[in-house]
Amino acid sequence: MLNSASQYPIFGPEIQCPHCRQAIAALTLTDTYLCQRHGAFEANPDTRDLVHLQSNRCWREWEGEWYRQHTHPDGIRFEIHEALDRLYTEGFRATQIVVARRYKPLISAYLERYNRQVMATQSLYSDAPSFERSDSRANRKELSAKEAAGKPSQKPGDHHNSTSKDKDSSSSPLRLYGLPVTFNHDENDPRWGVINFALEKEVGLPARYPYFRMFE
Ligand SMILES: [Zn+2]
Repeated sequence: MLNSASQYPIFGPEIQCPHCRQAIAALTLTDTYLCQRHGAFEANPDTRDLVHLQSNRCWREWEGEWYRQHTHPDGIRFEIHEALDRLYTEGFRATQIVVARRYKPLISAYLERYNRQVMATQSLYSDAPSFERSDSRANRKELSAKEAAGKPSQKPGDHHNSTSKDKDSSSSPLRLYGLPVTFNHDENDPRWGVINFALEKEVGLPARYPYFRMFE
């Protein structure tokens, strides 16, 4: 038994092709599976990665599903967009995006840049009450001038910005498609070494469907 099993790569004699979902067979005594349409996939017995040799794309498996392992922020972004789209058609709205922690280095910088762009766009529409703002800023400047160099850490611009809107985003500074993004912290759950993200959801449609907006 053991001997015949070891003729095959780690995923056994047959897998589903991650691309076309056809059953594809292993080449015995190799780590390779061969899809008629998509060519060779190689299973790594140590990492349990499945790599498409032609494109170098990589998948990991969890409970019979392949999860593409992303190396570019756009890849995971599009995958999240598809999942949001699916939720929407099923009558749910997402309330939060939980991304696997291993992607934090990949997408944090990207999301920060992306959020700055979105906020810049939004501020085009929220410029109206700038009178009061510049007023209070001026007051604060005076105030901090009076207080002299006692509290150098208190920057004049910092406080007047903390309106309720900004408080929302400070609880989760990263957002994607208007939804707060957090990273999964449970290192002990092996599922999070494979899956890419999870969506927290509730029944109901978004007030207005926001997820396409960013692609226009
Ligand atoms: Zn295929």
